[in-house]
Amino acid sequence: MEAAVDLHIHSALSPCADDDMTPNNIVNMALLNGLDAIAVTDHNCCDNVEAVTKAAGNKLIVLPGMELQTLEEVHLLCYFQDLTSLYDFRNHMEQFYDGMPNHPSYFGHQWIMNERDEVIGSKEQALLASLLLSFDDAVELIRKFKGLPVPAHINKPSNSILSQLGFIPPESGLTLLEISHNYPLDYRQYPNCTFLVSSDAHFLGQILERKMLISVEEITKEQIFQFLSKSFI
Ligand SMILES: [Zn+2]
Ligand SMILES: [Zn+2]
Repeated sequence: MEAAVDLHIHSALSPCADDDMTPNNIVNMALLNGLDAIAVTDHNCCDNVEAVTKAAGNKLIVLPGMELQTLEEVHLLCYFQDLTSLYDFRNHMEQFYDGMPNHPSYFGHQWIMNERDEVIGSKEQALLASLLLSFDDAVELIRKFKGLPVPAHINKPSNSILSQLGFIPPESGLTLLEISHNYPLDYRQYPNCTFLVSSDAHFLGQILERKMLISVEEITKEQIFQFLSKSFI
C-alpha cells in the first residue's frame, strides 16, 4: 500500500516559521490534506516533536526528526525510529550550539508548545545558525545514534549540499536525497538515488497534499522508517 508523507515541516519553534504552526494546526492541516505521516523538522532542535506526536494521537504518524545546519551552512535532515533515539541524539548534538542567543524581534519567536498549543517556553539558542559541526561529522553522528541522514532540498540555491559543497560526497553513502519542488533538478546526474519530495512548510498552506507516496506493507512508523532505511543499502 501507499503512504502519503510530508517529512519536512517546521513548527513555531523555528524562528522563520509562522506562529500559527502549532502542533494541532499542523496535525489538522495534514489530516485535511489526506496525509498518513509527517515529520516536524525544526532547525537544530526538536522540542515540539513530542507535542505534535501527542496531538496526532493515532490519527497521524509523526516520524521523529529535525533539520540540522552544519558548519558549511548545509541543511541536513535526520530521522529517528522513536522519540528516545531522537532525544539521545539531541542531548549529544546540543554541545555543538554556538551559544548565540535568539533575538525574537529580529529573527522571530522560537516557541516551545504542548499538545494543547499552549506556549510553555522558548528556545534561547538562536536556531538559525550553523552548528559547530561539519557536514561529514554530522552524518557520522546521526548514524552513530541510529538515525537516517538526508540532505535537504538539494536543488535549492542556498543552504543545500549542492549550493554549499557543490557535490554529494560519494564516500558518504547518501543515496536518499530530498528535493524541493520549487527548483529544477537533472535526475540523470544521480542514477542510484532515491528522492523524497517534501514541503519544507513554514506556513500551514504549504503542507503537502497526497503528492509524495511511498510503498509500505502497512502504514506504521516502523514501516516508513524502514522504507527510508532501505535507500541506504
Ligand atoms: Zn532547510
Ligand atoms: Zn526546512
